[in-house]
Amino acid sequence: MIESYAFLKRVLDAITEHIVVIDQQGTILFVNRSWTLFGKQNNCLIIDNNWQNINYLDVCNTASAMGDDFGSLAADGLRAVISGTKPSFSLEYPCHSPREKRWFMMRVSSFSMGQTRCFVISHHNITERKLAEEQVISLSRLDGLTGIANRRRFDEFLEAEWKRCARLSLPISLAIIDIDHFKLLNDTYGHLAGDDCLKAIGNTLQNFANRPGDLCARYGGEEFAIIYGNTSLQQSCLLAKQVLAAIRDLGIANENAPTSPTMTASIGVATMYPDQVSTATELIEAADRLLYQAKNQGRDRIVCQDESPPGSDKGPTTAE
Ligand code: GH3
Ligand code: MG
Ligand code: MG
Repeated sequence: MIESYAFLKRVLDAITEHIVVIDQQGTILFVNRSWTLFGKQNNCLIIDNNWQNINYLDVCNTASAMGDDFGSLAADGLRAVISGTKPSFSLEYPCHSPREKRWFMMRVSSFSMGQTRCFVISHHNITERKLAEEQVISLSRLDGLTGIANRRRFDEFLEAEWKRCARLSLPISLAIIDIDHFKLLNDTYGHLAGDDCLKAIGNTLQNFANRPGDLCARYGGEEFAIIYGNTSLQQSCLLAKQVLAAIRDLGIANENAPTSPTMTASIGVATMYPDQVSTATELIEAADRLLYQAKNQGRDRIVCQDESPPGSDKGPTTAE
């Protein structure tokens, strides 16, 4: 029984992976039941018995020509196995449907039947693992205490936004917000009260990062940062003023602070037009330097400066 075609076909049809076997020219020789079912459910070209007329390599090449990077990687990998450059090939790729996220792992291996070399291509659903990986990645970019973006996410976002603004010749602004006399607040009301305060600030600051090019993050202990992509100094200073007012409006007591009995913050805001030579680190350094000036000038204020173009130093502006 086990040597019969029917037995082996039933084994292949019982496998949940979608399997297609092609020859050296890409002509489809066999598909299993899972392949056919998947094709039917997803309105694929290769369904039912139509697959005999379809060349698998052509399908990959068409996808590649239409700008599908995964189609082109699949075609390259498949060609490498067919030409004998590689013994096997595997590729993880997204295949999202309008209703759900899905990923598959494509594997290619080969065997010979007489003079004919055949290639087995299987597609295995790896969505569960990919969703778990996505969750881990997104959790690793959140600050555990406040639930907003952490420093790692901030660094990634700033780098990407910096590049986008450089490409499009747009300004980018950065506000660094440091709570005034926070150590005194901790000393007066305890570390847990301090933690609650940081959570409230994180919550409030999130309301000031609304556009796709904006990000609010916890930058360090009691320091927060807001990235404003495609935003001028004038616009970002206006937003920073609202941030300063919103922090004051929280009305959190810090009775032993010498500057104000309710919690306040100091903010440094820098704006740059990214170019080929400048870096995002310069923007951070500039905002940090301006924050330091805001502290030295008495806290509870903003110091803003346009840091570009180089050489056109307009001098810092203070707002309370
Ligand atoms: P300044 O106005 O100059 O900024 O004074 P400051 O007291 O805010 O600054 P300093 O750097 O002296 O102290 C920061 C304090 O923030 C000290 C540190 O214990 C506290 N801090 C940092 N991270 C946390 C945290 O996660 N929870 C709490 N409760 N406190 C924190
Ligand atoms: Mg600080
Ligand atoms: Mg501080």
